[in-house]
Amino acid sequence: MTSPGIVRRTQRVVGIALFFLLIVLFLPLQAIIFVQFTELERRTVISNVERAINTIDDERQQLLQLTRDNASWDDAYAFAQGRNDGFVEQIFNQTSFETNRLNLLIILDTAGKMRAYKTYQFDATRVTANDAEVLRRINASGLLSQIGPDHGATEIIQLPGLPLLLSAHPILTNNFVGPSMGTMIMGRTLDATRIAEFGTQLRLDVQIHRLDLPDLPEEISSTVGKITTTGAPVVTPLTVDSVAGYGLIISASGAPTLLIQVNSSREIVQIGRTTALYTLMTFVIAGLIAMFTLAKLLNQLVLERLGLLIQNVKLIGIDKDLRHRVAIDGHDEFSLLANTINETMRALEQTEHERREAEEQREQMWKDVIASRRNFLATVSHELRTPLTPIRGYADLMLHGIGGAITPEQEQFLQMIQQNSRRMEAMVNDLLVMGQLDAGRVDLHIEQLAVAPAVTSVLAMLEQQITQQQVAVSVEIPPDLPTVRADAHRLDQILANLITNAIKYTRSGGRVQIRASSVNASQVEVAVHDTGIGMSDTEMERLFTPFYRADSVLSAQISGTGLGLSIARSLVELHGGTINVQSTPDVGSVFRFTLPSAAASDATVLVDQANTAAL
Ligand code: ADP
Repeated sequence: MTSPGIVRRTQRVVGIALFFLLIVLFLPLQAIIFVQFTELERRTVISNVERAINTIDDERQQLLQLTRDNASWDDAYAFAQGRNDGFVEQIFNQTSFETNRLNLLIILDTAGKMRAYKTYQFDATRVTANDAEVLRRINASGLLSQIGPDHGATEIIQLPGLPLLLSAHPILTNNFVGPSMGTMIMGRTLDATRIAEFGTQLRLDVQIHRLDLPDLPEEISSTVGKITTTGAPVVTPLTVDSVAGYGLIISASGAPTLLIQVNSSREIVQIGRTTALYTLMTFVIAGLIAMFTLAKLLNQLVLERLGLLIQNVKLIGIDKDLRHRVAIDGHDEFSLLANTINETMRALEQTEHERREAEEQREQMWKDVIASRRNFLATVSHELRTPLTPIRGYADLMLHGIGGAITPEQEQFLQMIQQNSRRMEAMVNDLLVMGQLDAGRVDLHIEQLAVAPAVTSVLAMLEQQITQQQVAVSVEIPPDLPTVRADAHRLDQILANLITNAIKYTRSGGRVQIRASSVNASQVEVAVHDTGIGMSDTEMERLFTPFYRADSVLSAQISGTGLGLSIARSLVELHGGTINVQSTPDVGSVFRFTLPSAAASDATVLVDQANTAAL
């Protein structure tokens, strides 16, 4: 048995906990991962930009070295002096231009006059400037002012067609000895092909932007502004997949000459994103696994065992057997609870056992008490009745003058003796009957009886009492009332007890009425009405209890034993009838009892006979 409520609630709690964990842990984690990877990308792009700038610097150094090698040469020295005119044509032929990746060679004499001007792939289609214009721009760039007697310099200048990397060196002898005979200038164009070559070399997508052109695009000028302000390369994502890094190439004079752009794919940030996504997925999967594992464990370790325990305990409730024990194996809180339940059951069983024993003992004691009371009653009643008979007998004899003549006063005393001994005899008889009823020793001699004669005979017996009490007694019994099946002596006893009470508890001048009627085909009801003192509801509740007498009766000192009604009820019930009472204090009471009508019994006999015949 499981409790889905607990599983669902636990899963919900774990789910909520995970959700908050996700917010508290994962989101900052993701932000950290993302920031880290973006920073890594920025650094990588900056490093790429720096590599590109370094490559151009290397190119400058390499060109400077080439210029230095050619300028510090006796042949060049002689050419500059005007002694070796064939030098340029001889040395700087197409092959040497190509091999050294040169596009321009200029040799100036000490006066700055152009001694040689030679270009390669530097025609007007690409560079829309003639030698004079080129020289003007070289002079304007300040390159020449940077060289010294024994050292050269490099510079990038902008020609109308494209940027040009220049290197200048004083013309010296082989041993780098002066005085300088002029200046050798070598140039390499920085065209797209060249820049692409750098890119291939660096495995980067490198581009350059001229900064000397009019109407520079806004993003270029703002990027240059940023680099100049921060002094560091600028990184700008272009699309989701690519990022650009920008750096400046500064001229020897310190002015920005070219903006170098290095494009890279955003692999790092992509990896960052993927990492974050995987982390999220791992998180969610781990969370789900944790949630289901928890639910499963909860089910296995708690709910199934709890269910077993509940079933076990339920069985105890169903069987109501304290000998049941709860069986749960293992060593946990459940087995502990099971042990505790078992111990409680054991204690309960013990208590129940003791209670039963005590009850049995009490029952036995009660039986003994009843038996001894019965014996006592039987003995006492018997012993009391024995002397009563001769007392009444002798009083009778004396009243009849057998013992001699008696005075009127003596006659009155003897009548008192007779009357009281009769009362006492009645009481003793009540006690005897009570004892017999108690012991179940009353046998009924059932016969078919008419109610009216029985009532008449009882009233006759009570005549003296009626006269003394001064109550009006009337009888209302229909002549066609069915006969009843009853023991004649016991019927008299029932009637006598009820009518005696009605007379006894009705003040003089009151009325007592005896009515009988047929309730239905099987029952006859006899009712004794009086206009007497009546009873309260609480008194009525205890009315049929042996020896019970109402307080009002006791205080009025009306004599009685409290046995009459109890005997009447037992006798009515022995006949298969019922008895009840209705009463109102100071208004009166009605006692009703039923007896089986003889007509119904006859009908039953007839039906029985018919059934027997049918068989
Ligand atoms: P007893 O009459 O000897 O006291 P009963 O068993 O006949 O004993 O009656 C029990 C009690 O019921 C009486 O003591 C009395 O309080 C009350 N009782 C019985 N019959 C009547 C009645 N007709 N009217 C009022 N009270 C009655």
